[in-house]
Parts: sequence; structure tokens; C-alpha cells
Amino acid sequence: MPFLTLFRQWRRRRLLARPIPAHWPELIARNFGLFNLLSEADQTKLLKVMRVFAAERHWEGCAGMEVGEEVRLAIASQACLLLLGIPDHDYFSQVRSILVYPQAYLLPQHRHEGAVVHEEPVPAAGTAVFNGPVLLSWEDVVRGGRNARDGRNVVLHEFAHFLDMEEGLVNGTPPLGSRKELEMWQSVMTEEYHRLRQASEAGLATLLNRYGKMDPGEFFAVATECFFEQPGRMQRSHPRLYEVLKGYFGQDPAGWPGRQTSSW
Ligand SMILES: [Zn+2]
Repeated sequence: MPFLTLFRQWRRRRLLARPIPAHWPELIARNFGLFNLLSEADQTKLLKVMRVFAAERHWEGCAGMEVGEEVRLAIASQACLLLLGIPDHDYFSQVRSILVYPQAYLLPQHRHEGAVVHEEPVPAAGTAVFNGPVLLSWEDVVRGGRNARDGRNVVLHEFAHFLDMEEGLVNGTPPLGSRKELEMWQSVMTEEYHRLRQASEAGLATLLNRYGKMDPGEFFAVATECFFEQPGRMQRSHPRLYEVLKGYFGQDPAGWPGRQTSSW
């Protein structure tokens, strides 16, 4: 086994064996509303996974942003929620750096007008770069994390893109266990993607963020946000979509203990 792999395994074991700082749960819950809905077992698991994740990433504050413990915990907890039920995940090892901006940042975007291409800066809340870093606006991380029931969460969205990228393509299909699972995934996702496009073009209200109609990659990312934040509503209006996501993520957010007492 290569030395670096051995070193990483040793480091992970050492991190996992250390007790979790007592103030972490409260500090995480401040910016991540879903945390308190999890079972105690899932909270403990999340704290361990995110500790490894946070230690292995390079964190960088941009445009004057200070990246302290609260920022790292808020982002790490939300990203690692996605990993809780995925066997053999690698702690998002392909994401080397996390660049945090205080607010939305400007990204150049190309706009075509006939043969002319205009480059215009547009504000962005999050960007997942293939084989590169993730960029996040802290203001949007907090807004998305604190409101845990509106189906909008920029960290879940961007890290869903990284799960999607694990097979080398951004096509809305992360690595799946079996051929049967893949066939079911493709059938349900294709149907639901077209359903969103049609509803959106007809001007109808949709549970899923209409941004998901852009392409199958965006569809998977917005479906992930909805699955964790509005699972009851997804189960009722998109039961097949809920089931394939439940199978992939190995989680059942509609049944989380914190949700038993409320209707969402
Ligand atoms: Zn996206």
C-alpha cells in the first residue's frame, strides 16, 4: 500500500479515536438546523465523519473572510450529512480546498449573442469545481443551514455535485451499488427531471427548485436539498424520487426522530 494511503489511514484512525469537543454540538446546531433532528447515533457518527473531513481539507478565507472554528463546523457538518449512510465513502477526498467568501462572489459567465460572446460577472452563492475546490458564500451557508425546511441549502447542493462527479462525469448519477439500482435510478430521475421541466415551462408551482431543470446534474443537486429539508413533502408528491434517494443516501430523513413531532 502506498505510504500516503497508509499515513492517511493512520491519521484518520487517530482522529476518530479522539473525544469530540463538548462545545461542538451546540456550535453546529447554531448554523445547521437539521442537526437537532438527527438521532443521537447519527449525531455521533456525523461528528466523527466531519472531524476527519475538516482536518483533511485546506480552508481558505477570501475577500477578507476569517475562517474560524464556527465556519469550519458549519460547512463540515452540512457536507458530511450526505455521507452518513454511504458505505465506503472517502470523506470527499477529491475536494482539496474550501474557499469561503463573506457574501456572494462574482463569477464570470459567458453570454452568447449571435456570434458575439459577452463575459459578464454574476453573483454566486456556491460553486463546485470539478477536480478543484468548492467556493462558498458564508452568508448563504448560514441562511441555508439555519432555515432547515425551505428546501434550499447551498452546502448540500454543492457537495451533491461532488458525489455526482465521483464517476468522472457531471450527469446527475453518482456511483451506485448494482445494475438494478442504476436502472431504477435512471428511470426515476429521467421521469422526474422531465416532470420538473414540464411543470416549470407550464408555469406551475413545483416542490423542487426550478433551477434543477438546467440539466440532470443540477436536478440531482436540488433533489438532494429537498430530500433532506422537505422529505415529508417529497414522499407525498414524489414517492419514487424519495425512494431512490433514500436507497442511495442510505438515510430516511422523513423518519428522523426530530421530525416525529412535527408535520414536515
Ligand atoms: Zn449546482
